[in-house]
Amino acid sequence: MNKQLHSTDPLTVLDGIGAVKSSRFAALGVTNLGELCELFPKSYRQNKVTRLIDAVPDEPCGFCFTVLSLPSVSYYPGGKRLLRFTAGDDSGKANIIFFNQPYLKNRFVKGDRYFFYGVLRKKNSVYSLYSPEFEDMSAFREGIHPIYPSAEGLSQNAVRSAVNAVLPYADSLVKERLPSETVLHMGFSDRAAAVCELHSPTSAQALISAKRRLIFEEMFFFSLRLRLLRDNNAKVLTEGFHSVDMAPFFRRLGFEPTPAQRRAIDEISQDLIFEGQKPVMNRLLEGDVGSGKTAVAAAAIYITVRNNKNAVLMAPTEILAKQHFASLGELFRPLGIRTLLLTGSTKIQRRREISELLSGSERFLIVGTHALIEDSVCIPHIGLTVTDEQHRFGVRQRERLSEKAECRNMLFLSATPIPRTLALFLFADKSISVIDTLPPGRKKTETYLVTQALRERTDAFIDRQLDDGHQVYVVCPLISDSDSLSGVLSAEGCYSRIKERFPNRRVGFLNGKMKPEEKDRMMTGFSEHKLDILVSTSVIEVGINVPNATLMLIENAERFGLSTLHQLRGRVGRGADKSYCILMAGKLNDSSRERLETLRDTDDGFRLAEFDLKTRGPGDFFGVAQTGRLDFSFFESSVFASSSESVTRLISSAKSEADMYADRLTPAEKSRLNTSDALMN
Ligand code: ADP
Ligand code: MG
Repeated sequence: MNKQLHSTDPLTVLDGIGAVKSSRFAALGVTNLGELCELFPKSYRQNKVTRLIDAVPDEPCGFCFTVLSLPSVSYYPGGKRLLRFTAGDDSGKANIIFFNQPYLKNRFVKGDRYFFYGVLRKKNSVYSLYSPEFEDMSAFREGIHPIYPSAEGLSQNAVRSAVNAVLPYADSLVKERLPSETVLHMGFSDRAAAVCELHSPTSAQALISAKRRLIFEEMFFFSLRLRLLRDNNAKVLTEGFHSVDMAPFFRRLGFEPTPAQRRAIDEISQDLIFEGQKPVMNRLLEGDVGSGKTAVAAAAIYITVRNNKNAVLMAPTEILAKQHFASLGELFRPLGIRTLLLTGSTKIQRRREISELLSGSERFLIVGTHALIEDSVCIPHIGLTVTDEQHRFGVRQRERLSEKAECRNMLFLSATPIPRTLALFLFADKSISVIDTLPPGRKKTETYLVTQALRERTDAFIDRQLDDGHQVYVVCPLISDSDSLSGVLSAEGCYSRIKERFPNRRVGFLNGKMKPEEKDRMMTGFSEHKLDILVSTSVIEVGINVPNATLMLIENAERFGLSTLHQLRGRVGRGADKSYCILMAGKLNDSSRERLETLRDTDDGFRLAEFDLKTRGPGDFFGVAQTGRLDFSFFESSVFASSSESVTRLISSAKSEADMYADRLTPAEKSRLNTSDALMN
């Protein structure tokens, strides 16, 4: 072919693609040649022919088989259909079995040769391959083989041949996205070459390099977007607050802030209190569970209200909002600051009263849930918005909250410790304060990793805690019984068991499907010690404070991520008494065992986070950042599997390259980029 192809050309310019096939590609989001180049494989397999007698059963393997018998279809109760035939090579034969794909019957003709790829099963010296992948031997090529996303009516071969038809033109179809300086600094090959490598890998090493390039691209543009956002926000100037006598506040607080809390309060004060004009505060306060973020936020609130502005605190759940309302209300009442509560269940009548109050000259702390960002709610004179457990809110919700504020000082609280390099990258639009030490006198929560074999002893331990007048949390990973098939006790099942085993105790049950009022009643009951045991799904993860609870039992602990487990453990050890966390493990593999053992042996959230980053890559932290439009779709921990250091280094490079690029931009270029889609795709 010596055609001239353009990235905007429709697929129909390719031989063999007509209107029908091109509409099937459209289902994959591919409507032109440029997009076809960007239709990346979702996975890869190693294409290699193994003789049947050399294959290891129960491991994936590829075979070159000749079809030996006519496919036959049998029917089973419930409408199930099974297609079966035999095929083999010179060393033996195997049953090939497909479920519910009777149309494949005409595909396999006796005597034809196919490449089959699947997990070989061996039973009573009979070999079987269930639902293997397959292709004509004529299309087979050894090496790393791309597997594309599938769409109805579009075979892997059809996708592959369309892609292969355009790859020779990649130089003109694939545009470079990175600035040329960055490509140079990073020593990248050009983008077209990387794209070709992804579609048609030449070696495992080259494939990894190509993937790294795309991962870098995503990180670069993510970083650039945050940097531009930061530059943009820096243009929104605000008047500083006047300084405030904090002595009454600290007296009322009733404890001495830790040095880390002091430092955070100082940093926030400098953001808020100054002469003249400065950009609004946009700060993340990061601190482990129980590190005392609320007191720091309260100091910011105090400064704000004393400056005759309203302060807003938004919590992700009704329970948490009420808890803050109760404790902050009590803290501030004697200081002459009234606290208002506004959640989804606030009645119309009360909302009217609140509106009335807000229109007067008094300033308040308004605590609530996302009801605060509903359009019908209008809070005037906002000087500060605090968002607790920020990762529980979507980006859009957070943006809406800040849009509502005329003077948008923003403080975000996060209980998810994040390794420093990663935090600087993920929250590049914000300043960061870290509370890295716990208040004094905190006893370490003793953590045990046990199996079902210790069930009776665990139950006896629960009894002892309750006899001592304490309370117990029992957390299960799932809520419905349909999941119990896999040997995992559902929360409902667990609740029944606990009620039966502890007939004389008051047992409550909490799950995410309950109505807010129900949840609330349950949680309030527990915190007022009207319940002894609270069985729950991980909904209690967020910020609940019941100091009398001294035992956290986590069922099927291997099912939770390290940071969730750490958060759950943080629900106990909040009072003066010794607390315990029991990790009841189900089936463990090497990595889940290592994870749980690490949790058992470490109570420093930042160290656990480092461990997570090292073993699982940064993927788990992306959710914390609520990255919004960018989802790091290329990110793959396996690319970094061999070296934990390189992911951190790649992240730092992406950030510094993005910063250098932004520094070179003129204001006009910046504002054009800010509004263009270039940053988004
Ligand atoms: P988190 O950071 O998880 O939101 P909280 O703000 O709820 O933690 O604080 C946890 C507990 O520690 C609260 O009961 C709080 O009163 C207490 N606390 C906070 N700071 C201190 C301190 N400096 N000294 C003693 N107790 C503190
Ligand atoms: Mg908290």
